[in-house]
Amino acid sequence: MRKNEVNWNIATIFCVAHLLTAYALYSVEFEFHLLLLSAVVTMFRWLGFSCAAHRYFSHRICRTSRWFQFVLGIWAVLTMARGPIKFASGHRHHHLYSDKPRDLHSPSRHGFFGSYIGWVVSKQYDEDKLGHVDDLKRYPELVWLNRLYFLPNAAFLYGIYYVGGMGALVYGGMLSVILTWHLAFSATVTFHVIGRPAYATGDFSKNSLLLGVLLCGEGWHNNHHANPRSARLGHEWWQLDLGYCVFLALEQVGLIWSLNKSTGPAHRGIQRVSQIGSGRSNIEESRVTVEAWG
Ligand SMILES: [Zn+2]
Ligand SMILES: [Zn+2]
Repeated sequence: MRKNEVNWNIATIFCVAHLLTAYALYSVEFEFHLLLLSAVVTMFRWLGFSCAAHRYFSHRICRTSRWFQFVLGIWAVLTMARGPIKFASGHRHHHLYSDKPRDLHSPSRHGFFGSYIGWVVSKQYDEDKLGHVDDLKRYPELVWLNRLYFLPNAAFLYGIYYVGGMGALVYGGMLSVILTWHLAFSATVTFHVIGRPAYATGDFSKNSLLLGVLLCGEGWHNNHHANPRSARLGHEWWQLDLGYCVFLALEQVGLIWSLNKSTGPAHRGIQRVSQIGSGRSNIEESRVTVEAWG
């Protein structure tokens, strides 16, 4: 990434957030329950990333009411992964050009740093440049949330401080943001490096038992590349997928419907690796189209 391609505003925010959090951790007395709080809030934020930002806004894996869509939008921005429209734009771009030169965060193309955090602070990570999100831009409240994503985060941080004091703010608020960021950055790198493919998706996406279990189902990434519109990332009965369970619960209580529960590849062009004996097959044939996101 060239120097003039860096979004210095975002890069500065990342640096200041890390320094502030380090200073706050140094200043506040450590207590074990604060570490537990941090783990719980990080899990809550990560599920927001997985269920709301990724599965719902990027892939529209179910239908819902407009008010609950806004709730999902709030949950998505609490991951501080930027606005839901921005994230969906970058992520749909990833599915379209996965491990091709235009992929923003392909480890095989951009190396560790570029695919870990380089793409996040790049000027190329811009929904106006990348596109693919006209279906989401139809909703003014989502456009607002996309621009002012820091406001729900500020309210969330204040709520934690109000209820639990400074220790809760530092561990449950600030530290959990940093941890969620690095979980998301690690995911973009490891999901295309660690594990084995089940389907010949024409890219380097992998399935990993460890990452699948630890990251609420997101580590079944090769399954996901084979069938991006499905809410279910774990295709086999033993492939634990906590994010999918969240959607099943939401469906049970009537908050969402038309949930895509399909397993297996999205179309016949994608074969199982066990059938063809190779992780890479016809790239163009297996490229999943994105015309019908909404
Ligand atoms: Zn991927
Ligand atoms: Zn995806």
